[in-house]
Amino acid sequence: MSNSTPQKFEFQTEIKQLLDIVIHSLYTEKEIFVRELVSNASDALEKLRHTQLTEKEVFDDNLTLEINVTTDDKAKTITIQDFGVGMTREELVENLGTIAHSGSKAFLQALGESGAKNSNLIGQFGVGFYSAFMVAKSVKVYTHSWRKDAPGHMWSSDGSGTYEIEEAEGQRRGAKIVIELKDDCADFAQDWKIKEILERYSAFVSFPINLNGKRINTVQALWLRNKNEVKDEEYTEFYKFQAHAFDEPRLRLHFSADAPLAINALLFVPKENTEKLGFSRLEPSVSLYCRKVLIDAKPKDILPEWLRFLKGVVDSEDLPLNISRETMQDKSLLEKLNKVITKRFLKFLEEEAKNRAEGYTEFYKEFGVFLKEGAALDFTHKDQLVKLLRFESSLTEKGKTTSLADYVSRMGADQKEIFYLVGPNRASIESGPYLEGFKARNLEVLFCYETVDEYVMNNVREFDGKKLTAADHADVKLADLPKPEGALKDEDVTTLTKWLKDTLGERVSEVKPSDRLVDSPVIALNADKFMSPHMRRIMKAMNKDAETPLRVNLEINPRHAVIKRLFETHTAQPEKAKLVAEQLLDNALISAGLLDDATAMVARLNKLLESV
Ligand code: ADP
Ligand code: MG
Repeated sequence: MSNSTPQKFEFQTEIKQLLDIVIHSLYTEKEIFVRELVSNASDALEKLRHTQLTEKEVFDDNLTLEINVTTDDKAKTITIQDFGVGMTREELVENLGTIAHSGSKAFLQALGESGAKNSNLIGQFGVGFYSAFMVAKSVKVYTHSWRKDAPGHMWSSDGSGTYEIEEAEGQRRGAKIVIELKDDCADFAQDWKIKEILERYSAFVSFPINLNGKRINTVQALWLRNKNEVKDEEYTEFYKFQAHAFDEPRLRLHFSADAPLAINALLFVPKENTEKLGFSRLEPSVSLYCRKVLIDAKPKDILPEWLRFLKGVVDSEDLPLNISRETMQDKSLLEKLNKVITKRFLKFLEEEAKNRAEGYTEFYKEFGVFLKEGAALDFTHKDQLVKLLRFESSLTEKGKTTSLADYVSRMGADQKEIFYLVGPNRASIESGPYLEGFKARNLEVLFCYETVDEYVMNNVREFDGKKLTAADHADVKLADLPKPEGALKDEDVTTLTKWLKDTLGERVSEVKPSDRLVDSPVIALNADKFMSPHMRRIMKAMNKDAETPLRVNLEINPRHAVIKRLFETHTAQPEKAKLVAEQLLDNALISAGLLDDATAMVARLNKLLESV
């Protein structure tokens, strides 16, 4: 088949699915299609500017880098034209026929998860080019690539499963998108309507936009302006435009530096952590500019991994302008940039924590997990990051948190370590037996509720010269408390622990009197240095069949009535005492979340009940 006759293509399955939803959606803010198409036009112009730096031969090379929007209310059309890189035939198929756009992918994924035709999701993710089909009867894309030898083409579709491509002569460089509007969307062919939409965000497009021949925007780079002159709304609109976001930013940092590098940066923390909501891992998306020229929209190396939730712009005059996306070889320069920005952002968070504690707490609820990731993995910034961590503790109220520095300031003169307990929530930690010995000695214990916490604590290891220690670990030594009345005598304790060890056999590695029990008769302590009870639960959840052999240290409370009674009966009624001993161990394992199978326990308990 000759290339000059129209050729019909099927959309990729995912695109068909996407289009079906977009076309039938009742999403009310249909105007986002203007923003998506203008943003594509702007991207194409940015790419062209780059191409011009590296390629000698560029088609139609003396065209102005601008975007022209025209409306025709008689014909009910809107046309968006740019003089950017354009597309070849192959690129048309690749870019407009298959799913490349990460927002569309995320959209489909979210849709799969929510299980419904939830049209609001369109607004949350943006569906890029395909958003045009919310308002279009048909979409035509006339384009000519910057490559001289590629012919011009016209792509067209009504969004119903197929599209056509044919050669089209006489095209200028770039892309011209002609939308024939649905009858109920004919408003978008009105000059005033489009003007209103464009004015809202066009200030952030770094190319001139003309509407029906009239200039709409004055090109300005917001991040280069003096921050005293920028209004909150401008920042917010910029954030929405630049980050393709639909929320309001939670925090923003606008700063400039001269040494060691000249930097202007505008960073945003979004409202929500979408990773937490279960969407895919965030990709770095702070864009790198050099004197207002985009170098890379998603550079990997200008921020550490754990800052991947940041949005915004970094502009540095010190970058060579012709540094290309593929060959950002000057690693040392990027490393420097990375260092300066990270340090500045961490300082900013410190200030927020100090001056706007409530806002910081809210931020931490959403994004604290990233700070933990950094504290555990980023050795360079660990110290600064650890200071930013927050935990509930045995001394805070529910929902209130403390920093490690504040914890340390409350430590008594004799306390050498920082204690923490890992558990699913406050209630379960407070009702378990592990806390009571610490409480009795006025020792504060940090509460860790998140699965990553244990890993983080293990990696962080110490703060301010104090070791971070799991309070349920067998090695923890607590100071003596005055011996209360009525405890078993030392030699009786020795007899009983020996008997218990013999009776319980392989299930325990050691039995000894406890220095930490107050109200509970027994406690199971983690004998395994490398796997806490909590970690073991996680491992089990991940791999149900794996047998992780379990041995614990059992500690007994010589003051507790049950223990005293056990001592009395263990010679007189050995059978029954054995059942009690086994039951006590199971009780301790339940508190530790370590009892895997309760069948044997229930049978035993019934037997014990018979004898009551
Ligand atoms: P995204 O912009 O996030 O990549 P879109 O769905 O908006 O996703 O666009 C898909 C792709 O189509 C773009 O990545 C780009 O390669 C191509 N494209 C869209 N509009 C244009 C344009 N005006 N000029 C050149 N290429 C374009
Ligand atoms: Mg786009």
